[in-house]
Amino acid sequence: MDFTKEEIEKVNEAFETLKKKATKSRKKEDIERIDQAFDFAYKAHYPVRRKSGEPYIFHPIAVAEIIASEILLGTTSIITALLHDVVEDTEYTTEDIRQFFGDKVATMVDGLTKMSGVFDHRSSLQAENFRKMLLSMSDDVRVILIKLADRLHNMRTLESMTENKQLKIAGETLFLYAPLAHRLGLYQMKTELEDISFKYRHRDDYERISSKLIESNEKRTNFINKFSLPIAAKLTDMNYDFDISGRPKSVYSIWQKMQKKGVTFEQIYDLFAIRIIFTPIEGTGDEKEQCYKIYSMITDIYRPRPDRLRDWVNSPKANGYEALHSTVMGPNGKWVEVQIRSQRMNEIAERGFAAHWKYKGHHDQESELDKWLEKIRETIESPDADALQFLDDVKLNLYTAEIMVFTPKGDLKKLPLNSTALDFAYDIHTEVGNQALYAEINHKSMPLTTKLNSGDQVRIITSSKAQPKEEWMYQVATAKAKAAIRAYFNKIRNNVIEDGSQIYLNLLKKQNIKINEKLFMRLRDNLGVKTKNDLFYGLGKGTISITDIRKLLKRGGAPKWMRFWALKSDSNTDEQNQIAFDKKKILSISDEDIQSQFHIANCCNPIPGDSVIGYQDDEGIVHIHKSTCPQAVKLSSGFGDRIVKVKWTSRKAMAFLSNIRLEGLDQPGIVHSVTGIIAKELKANIRTIHFETLDGTFNGWIELFVYDTNDLNRLISNLKGIKGMSRVYRQHESN
Ligand code: MN
Repeated sequence: MDFTKEEIEKVNEAFETLKKKATKSRKKEDIERIDQAFDFAYKAHYPVRRKSGEPYIFHPIAVAEIIASEILLGTTSIITALLHDVVEDTEYTTEDIRQFFGDKVATMVDGLTKMSGVFDHRSSLQAENFRKMLLSMSDDVRVILIKLADRLHNMRTLESMTENKQLKIAGETLFLYAPLAHRLGLYQMKTELEDISFKYRHRDDYERISSKLIESNEKRTNFINKFSLPIAAKLTDMNYDFDISGRPKSVYSIWQKMQKKGVTFEQIYDLFAIRIIFTPIEGTGDEKEQCYKIYSMITDIYRPRPDRLRDWVNSPKANGYEALHSTVMGPNGKWVEVQIRSQRMNEIAERGFAAHWKYKGHHDQESELDKWLEKIRETIESPDADALQFLDDVKLNLYTAEIMVFTPKGDLKKLPLNSTALDFAYDIHTEVGNQALYAEINHKSMPLTTKLNSGDQVRIITSSKAQPKEEWMYQVATAKAKAAIRAYFNKIRNNVIEDGSQIYLNLLKKQNIKINEKLFMRLRDNLGVKTKNDLFYGLGKGTISITDIRKLLKRGGAPKWMRFWALKSDSNTDEQNQIAFDKKKILSISDEDIQSQFHIANCCNPIPGDSVIGYQDDEGIVHIHKSTCPQAVKLSSGFGDRIVKVKWTSRKAMAFLSNIRLEGLDQPGIVHSVTGIIAKELKANIRTIHFETLDGTFNGWIELFVYDTNDLNRLISNLKGIKGMSRVYRQHESN
């Protein structure tokens, strides 16, 4: 449909606003180039509309506006933003862009164009796109800033998408883009991305927390004023030009805190932080000293909490963040976080890497970022081609808490928090890691798995006879070490898998059985393996015996897991799948259709009442995960198009396996009380039960069948009532 007159007017208006906000592009030739890019993009996208119905061109204009007014980049970036979807969505090619706008813009647009062509259908398209984006980013960081602006605008306009798409995009944003924005120091953007993602992923929680924030707003404002007034008076005395404000924490960060600490909204004391931004006064010491001067003035008014001083003025975070944070006791004995920043520090905090350009030369930040990009590049170029694995590695590189250690020669190396001597070894060279024997930390011989602390001096002793150990995988913190160890063992493992798969094929041949997926699923549930390769590996290594498999094949494989499914997927509302089973009675699985349609994920063991999502695999099996399961977040990010909406159609119809953990003091009769309660409550549908006592403490693991979360919660609260019991919880629930 052609655009209406009003629509064309609105487009032009939006473009004029963009130009007004592009304060860095005031020269005549800049304006001309931006006009050209707009004309080009307008024609190229004409007459396409967005899902919301508005002309498509609004999107590139909005992205360019974010680039111009929120990240403050220049003309080339604005032009690239205007053109960023042209190659992907229209007939025009990168060559066309090159012809009209030159090499630089063409290369950047290419970096922003999703990959097309043939993919292994198992690998995640998203992961490949991300990989490509990071590759172009290592040439020019502006590409990633535009990509982030693109994502931000898509998030701001997510409402018009279907719910499946919303969940996919929100998952991806939380998994990749928010950490990336954080790593580049774009705090504001990171916070907004997280909050919007959270809103779509957990609507109820989002609404609840934001309405509570609004409700408590007046009380908070009063408190902030009361707290800030004496500080403001002193700052005026000191002749400072300053800004003091109380900023509420983001909805997402409040929710995270509630989850992590198991507290209610009302129990969170630091719902806001006080921020002081000052213009340094010349001739009274450098910014650093002035930050400390202001800090000391504040501690004259309020008592500081000594363990809560965070000095990112003397040693900035790796993403460039500088500020002095402290927690002091405010009126009514309330702890309050205070952040002190100069004007320059504030600009870096808000706009991150982009602001560094302005202050280039002030600090050695540029080289820090270069080092980080170098690490990302190493990850991208590593021969390990598994796309999802790759995302994990990049994520490892996105986290910033760091320690600093020294080589024997006194060179400084930055490693992530919790790094071990092994990380250090692999950081020097893959071969040093692979042949490492032990470490000398501060001249003392120590195991390679020793965790390093800032300031340690580390020397690695190698031997050509040494070999990596498999458990090292779990004892390193860097992506580089992990990738190297994985590569080493993959090589060995692949040979074993090859052997194992031969054994498997021969076995089936001998028994005259055709290979089929259901057969594998049965073996998987009985043998506790996750993938076919795990099965082959076990066979190759001899940890799974041929006799066992032969027995299982003969038995027809009665499943060890008594699982029943009462799920309905959007794509299949077939009434006959909702078979009602006898209440409170465990039936054996007989309906092959139901069995082959759903699979309850082992990682999170969802049960009716839990909020769940489904992921459909290559064989069409829908795997059910809790929507809070990390695996589910990863899947919705990597395979969003395979996410299926599912819901429990009937509670109390079927029983589900669930795990309960118990902790308490060892008291006479405690085991008896536990089993008594379970037997009474659930008529003894226990699968396994295991208790152990140690030094007067009591630990229990129970696997049992329950019907839904109500059942489980009632049981847990009854168990909690037993004398001496200190904790009872559902395993996999808290993370
Ligand atoms: Mn776009």
